[in-house]
Amino acid sequence: MAKKNPSLAFDGLALAWLGLTSYSVMRSASGPDTAQSQARLEPLPPPKATRSFFDQGELVAVLTTQPLDRLLDYKAPEGGCFAGAYVEVPLGPRKVMGVVWGAGSGDYDRSRVRPVIRVLDVAPMREEMQVFLGRAADYTLTPMSAMLRLATRAPGLSDPPSMRKVYRLGNGVAGRMTDARRRVLDTLSDYGGLSFTLGELAETAGVTPSVVKGLVKLDAVREEDSPRDLPLPGLDPTRRGKALTKDQAAAAAHLGAAIDDGRYGTTLLKGVTGSGKTEVYLEAVAETLKRGRQALVLLPEIALTAEFLTRVEARFGARPAEWHSGVTMTERRRIWKMVGQGDAQLVVGARSALFLPFRDLGLIIVDEEHDTSYKQEDGVLYNARDMAVLRAAICGARVVLASATPSLESWSNVQAGKYDMVELTSRFGAAVMPDMRAIDMRAEQMQAGRWISPTLQAAIADRLARGEQAMLFMNRRGFAPVTLCRACGQQIGCRQCDARMVEHRFLKRLMCHQCGETTPIPTTCPSCGVADKLAPVGPGVERMGEEAAALFPEARIAVLSSDLFASARALKEGIEKIARGEADIIIGTQLVAKGHNFPLLTLVGVIDADLGLQGSDLRAAERTFQLMRQVAGRAGRSDKPGSALLQTFQPEHPVICAILSGDEDGFWRAEAAEREAAGVPPFGRMAGIILSGTDVAQVFDLGNALARSDAPLREIGAQVFGPAPAPIARIRGRHRVRLLVKAAKGAPLQDALARWTGALRLKGDLRLSIDIDPQSFY
Ligand code: ADP
Ligand code: ZN
Repeated sequence: MAKKNPSLAFDGLALAWLGLTSYSVMRSASGPDTAQSQARLEPLPPPKATRSFFDQGELVAVLTTQPLDRLLDYKAPEGGCFAGAYVEVPLGPRKVMGVVWGAGSGDYDRSRVRPVIRVLDVAPMREEMQVFLGRAADYTLTPMSAMLRLATRAPGLSDPPSMRKVYRLGNGVAGRMTDARRRVLDTLSDYGGLSFTLGELAETAGVTPSVVKGLVKLDAVREEDSPRDLPLPGLDPTRRGKALTKDQAAAAAHLGAAIDDGRYGTTLLKGVTGSGKTEVYLEAVAETLKRGRQALVLLPEIALTAEFLTRVEARFGARPAEWHSGVTMTERRRIWKMVGQGDAQLVVGARSALFLPFRDLGLIIVDEEHDTSYKQEDGVLYNARDMAVLRAAICGARVVLASATPSLESWSNVQAGKYDMVELTSRFGAAVMPDMRAIDMRAEQMQAGRWISPTLQAAIADRLARGEQAMLFMNRRGFAPVTLCRACGQQIGCRQCDARMVEHRFLKRLMCHQCGETTPIPTTCPSCGVADKLAPVGPGVERMGEEAAALFPEARIAVLSSDLFASARALKEGIEKIARGEADIIIGTQLVAKGHNFPLLTLVGVIDADLGLQGSDLRAAERTFQLMRQVAGRAGRSDKPGSALLQTFQPEHPVICAILSGDEDGFWRAEAAEREAAGVPPFGRMAGIILSGTDVAQVFDLGNALARSDAPLREIGAQVFGPAPAPIARIRGRHRVRLLVKAAKGAPLQDALARWTGALRLKGDLRLSIDIDPQSFY
């Protein structure tokens, strides 16, 4: 069992400070150092003074985005350059982007050192950003070049400043209205006044550039010259927000005082859905902006940003900068630059927004902090919630973690006194928490191939009669998770993965949820060739839609699943329609659990509350608890009381009981005790090692070799489990084997992992990836 070490309590990432030795050789040399101050959550000491300017010809060390494991020496260009400058340098025959990391090492033949080609016209990288990238690299065992790529995810940064043509809505009429023309005009009006480049507009609207040009001739679209990158419109933090309730005002005052203090600290803002957490943290944003500092709001789901942007606009009189995969390339570059020069006050975005070059970041909000999508699951494996705390600790910012159902990590950090907490205990206005009950499926008369119990059916009928909405929750996309051949008994699997193909009837295809491969739905069995014997088994949301339509032929039914919408915008529109009452029964996957506001919704039915309890995942109970409470929280958000019904075969299961009784503290205490006894996070440390390759024997040989050479792990008292086939043993034709490393809380795990795997030579197409604090075990 893990020993408790009170002075170094787990912090989600405190280990970044716990005496790590350098894994990547290019860590910032001047980075603040280790342990003690962090354990007390105090600001890091200021970086030691380093050289800040290099005259022409002086040696500088440059970090590039190329996968080399070292800094390269160059000569400072004409006019010199600042430390942190973004530069273009020659690398072999190519020109690549890099950042001046510090003074050159001088260990090359000076006559062969080449000069920097030029300094880019963007604000230099701040020292705190260098430190942040170094720490994040150490923590996640990621090469610095990959970290720099994360921090420069804006195309064309090296383009010279210039004017370019942009297109926006004009005053003229389109004359003959074709389909293509209509799409161009719709795109422009949908994006509310934003301008596009020709290529972007044509692509977004799905037309050729000549269609746009035709509209320009008619002045239906206006062509303008515009500087490439403009500051964002100013937000006015002095505008009055909503009048807060007593609870809300107290929470806002607490955050305001923390922001006034101007130092690092993390607050858990806990409050039931609809209690006004967003109103409260918008006050914290206002306080931050008033002090001239920048704020960042992270949201777990792009589909949530639209509603949020509207709220910000109403509150501060202008829209904030938006940063996620749905933002155009031109807009990304603009935001990246404006954030760097302080001309964007507030950024709303996905986890990658954490790597934007803020000039003076004073506040980071992580909304729905428990959400698993904050963990990046490919490329650089980082948890945005933990990295937000790291970044804030380095730059002296406040972090607010908002959730109705916090993660066990955050809950235990509050218990340990590392985070403080403010709580909103009641819903705003007349809304009350839904009444939650179980439907014992053992006592229900179920027909074969049906999943809605008579009790649930009666409750839905009751809502429909009153003109209210009902929602059915089923956390499975598609029509049916399994397609079975009734002749040979085989299930249709993916050719490349160890996964079953899921029927998506709406798309008329079978789809692999691992690799995304799709095939038409076959009529003959691919194994035995017998025709017309294939049958869908088990429910997915689409099938629930059919069942609901059969039971309630009059009702308007909306199925809400990310794959049923062509784009994030279409999804957003779907959600808005539902919120306006244009559906009677909503059927959805976990997408519906995330923060949407449906005022007419008064009943939530969970089709299979047991689904999440079956996993071997150490967080299965926690996830089920959070998800069920979140989903239930969708019901009864305005003046009508709501109820939630959970269909379950095990109503006496402790997790189900905790969900129904709402005894959160009891649940957390029990869950924490179990994890502590097992020495698993947050009371112990874990790392997952995934090995993959096309030759299964080679992958296992590598795994066995690693398991045998575990001396560096044993030195720190860590244990290694495996190799074993990963739960999904094959993806995209690559076999996957995993090892699990467990260590005590204070152990210097990253250092040991680096020494353990560092000596390895990977042959052929073998790959190794290390996942620190793994969240999912697949
Ligand atoms: P949460 O973020 O906790 O889910 P929200 O901040 O979204 O809660 O609040 C839920 C609803 O109640 C929103 O429509 C919000 O505008 C409204 N609301 C919350 N607090 C107030 C207030 N003090 N005055 C007016 N409306 C409020
Ligand atoms: Zn597949």
